[in-house]
Amino acid sequence: MGRRKETITYSPSTFSTSVRPGSASAGLEFATPGDGVVEHYRPRVSYYMREQAGNFHYGKLHPMKPHRLTLTNHLVLNYGLHKYMDVFEPRRATEEEIRQFHAEDYIDFLKRVTPDTQGQFQECFAQFNIGDDCPIFDGMWDFCRIYSGASIEAARKLISGSCDIAVNWMGGLHHAKKYEPSGFCYVNDIVLAILQLLRYYPRVLYVDIDIHHGDGVQEAFYTTDRVMTVSFHKYNGDFFPGTGAIDEMGSGLGKFYAVNVPLQDGIDDRSYTQLFKTVMTSVMETFKPGAVVLQCGADSLGLDRLGVFNLSIAAHGECVRFMRRFGVPMMVIGGGGYTIRNVARCWTNETGIVCGVELPSELPNNVYHEFFAPDYSLHPQLSGRVINHNSRAYLNALTARILEQLRYLKGAPSVQMQEAPPDIQGFLEDQEKHQKEVDADRLGDIKDDRSGRREHVAELYEGDEDQDQDAS
Ligand SMILES: [Zn+2]
Repeated sequence: MGRRKETITYSPSTFSTSVRPGSASAGLEFATPGDGVVEHYRPRVSYYMREQAGNFHYGKLHPMKPHRLTLTNHLVLNYGLHKYMDVFEPRRATEEEIRQFHAEDYIDFLKRVTPDTQGQFQECFAQFNIGDDCPIFDGMWDFCRIYSGASIEAARKLISGSCDIAVNWMGGLHHAKKYEPSGFCYVNDIVLAILQLLRYYPRVLYVDIDIHHGDGVQEAFYTTDRVMTVSFHKYNGDFFPGTGAIDEMGSGLGKFYAVNVPLQDGIDDRSYTQLFKTVMTSVMETFKPGAVVLQCGADSLGLDRLGVFNLSIAAHGECVRFMRRFGVPMMVIGGGGYTIRNVARCWTNETGIVCGVELPSELPNNVYHEFFAPDYSLHPQLSGRVINHNSRAYLNALTARILEQLRYLKGAPSVQMQEAPPDIQGFLEDQEKHQKEVDADRLGDIKDDRSGRREHVAELYEGDEDQDQDAS
C-alpha cells in the first residue's frame, strides 16, 4: 500500500513560493518529555471527526491534502485513543453560523461556485482571491461546513462544561478572511469558534504554532481586549502571509493584545520550546483566559513540504503538553502541515498528550502502515535540513521585547479583567435550536444517545476491519 510518495514539487503562487529551504545542518537535541511533571489533571476529552473530511481534494498538485485527516484518524483509533475520549461526528455548520464572521456575498459565492459552474463566476475570481492557493474544488462548501461545524460544536461543548479539552484536527484554517479565502483556508472556523466562546468566557486566548502567521484570527480580533492572539511563526516580511511582525500588537482597546513571535529559518527544538514556555507563562499570568484555543499547524515540523523549521514531533507536542498543564478549558485544532505522514504522526501524538496517554513509538498496524516506512515510528528524525538562523542574541532580544509588551497589560488597571456578562441564556436557546439542526444533519448514519448527543463514532470502528478508500 505504499501509495502517495510525495515527489511532486509544487512551486507557483504566494503561499508555496515562500519556502526557502536552506542547506542541511544539525539541530540540537530536544530533552524529551518526562521532565518531572506531576500530572494530576485528568481532563475529559472530546474528539471530533467526520470521515468524509479526508476525502476532499484541492487538486492533484496542491499541497493541502485532506487525506492527512484520514491518516490521523487511523493512527488515533489504532493506538486505541478513542477509549480515552468521547468521539463525536459533528454536524455541519449552518450558513447562519458562518455568517457570524463572513460576508454574505462571499458566502453566497462559496455556496454556488463549483468546478462545473465556475465558468459563470470567472469575473468574481479576482475579488474572491481564487487561484492556485485557493482553487475551486468539488465539495468545497461542504468541506467548509464540516470542519467549521466541528469547531463550533467543540466550542459549545467546552461552554456546556461537558468536556475540558475538545480536539478537532479538521479545523484550524487560520488564514481565511471575512471577505475572501487565503492560504488554502476558505472559512475561518477558529474565528467562528472563538465567537462562540466569547458568549460565555470573558477572555479567550488564541495560540498558534503553525509556521505561518495566524493572520485571519489576529485581524478578526485586532481591536478587542477580550481575545489575545499569540502567534509563533516564520517572519521575514516575505514569507506567507507577509504579516506577523513583532510590532503588530493590536489597536484601540485591543492594543497589546496581539502578540507576535517572528522567527527565522531552522529554529530547533530547544530554542522553540524554551521560548514558547517563557512567553506562554507570562501570557497566562497576565491575561488569565477563561478558555484557550491552540492551533497546532504541523508545518512547523522539520521536513515539512512548505515549512523551514526543524521541530520534532516531541517538541511540537511539548507545546500542547505545556498548555494542557494550565488546566484551562482548551480547544485543540489542526492547521497547516504538508508532509502528511508527519502531520498524522504529530496530531496522533498530541491526541495522546491531551488524553494523558504515553504512546509507544512503534506505530500500530493500520491500513496505511506503508505510509510510515521505513521506520514505522511515531518519532522519526525530522531535524537537520535547514540551518538554524535564530541566534541566541536574537531570541533573547525577542523574548525581552515580548515580555515588555505583556508588562504593559499588567500595569494597566484595565477593563480586561472585568467579567463580561455571559450570554448564557441566549446560548442555551441556541443549543436547543441547533439540536434540531443536528438531527436534520444526521443523515441516518448515527444514533442519538439518551442525552440527545451523538453516538461515539468510535463505536463504528470497534472490532471491524475498517477500510477507508484512498483519498487521492
Ligand atoms: Zn501553515
